[in-house]
Amino acid sequence: MALELKKVGVVGAGQMGTGIAQVLVQCGYDVYLMDVEKDRLEKARSFIASALDKLESKGKLSAADKAATLKRIQTGTDYEGFRTCDFAIEAATEDEQVKKDILKKLCQVVPKDRPLATNTSSISITRLGAQTDRPAKFIGMHFMYPVPRMELVEVIRGIATEDETYQLVRELAKKLGKKPVTAEDFPAFIVNRILLPMINEAVYTLYEGVGTVEAIDTAMKLGTHHPMGPLELADFIGLDVCLSVMHVLHEGLADTKYRPCPLLVKYVEAGWLGRKTGRGFYDYSGETPVPTR
Ligand code: NAD
Repeated sequence: MALELKKVGVVGAGQMGTGIAQVLVQCGYDVYLMDVEKDRLEKARSFIASALDKLESKGKLSAADKAATLKRIQTGTDYEGFRTCDFAIEAATEDEQVKKDILKKLCQVVPKDRPLATNTSSISITRLGAQTDRPAKFIGMHFMYPVPRMELVEVIRGIATEDETYQLVRELAKKLGKKPVTAEDFPAFIVNRILLPMINEAVYTLYEGVGTVEAIDTAMKLGTHHPMGPLELADFIGLDVCLSVMHVLHEGLADTKYRPCPLLVKYVEAGWLGRKTGRGFYDYSGETPVPTR
């Protein structure tokens, strides 16, 4: 009989873990959200509460449903809450060693017949799965940021992932109102494999003086009907994240076409990481973003 999910564990209460926990509780699942930083958990809780407040004020959620939804979230800094989980999703910092340590600990508490997933953007699912006691029940479930708004979930099987786990994760994605798309376990999967080289090329276009920041973003918005220009999007994603995905592609596929643009490297070295630091290809210190080149 197919495994029925009631309670889902989420490791990491950052941008992604918070969004994943939010959609899970909104869709009726119980959630245990865990982070090593207590203040991250508090922030996650208040972020979710204010998202639900907005739904209530728009008349999309009753006060009683809001209270019941919030009640489904349990948070903590230890692994005990995972003992009663039917499934767990790792969404902690993008660092292979951190993820391997977390997976080892999860294996000790999540019942052995229950599947585990990772939300990694770039690390090999097969390699992470090999660190667990259940590679057949290990899978990539790659949500997009911001999770409540983005419809896509990339589902990535490792070499050992069995069909039952694959079907379970696809079904879960659908129950969360998302569209699952299957990607093979190659560096950066589908979306980032295509998107990040485009962003990197936009930075090369700037670096070589083909266009200004404004010209490049305007050209791509009007010329391709993209809602955001590639440089604006890079600032939104975070330039450090963009650079790390380019490194993964460059190293993992060993092709010079993935060489990170030296200007992208320089911005990251300067700490100009985009919106989150107030400066990237745009300066965010004023009312409206101002192009920096
Ligand atoms: P983030 O920095 O916002 O959050 C990471 C969280 O992990 C932090 O709260 C941190 O305290 C916590 N953490 C670190 N070590 C931990 C440990 N040992 N145990 C428990 N928690 C720990 O990062 P994020 O943007 O939410 O990314 C999380 C994951 O999601 C990464 O694997 C990333 O590649 C992936 N991802 C990110 C995006 C994106 O656009 N940001 C999109 C898709 C997938």
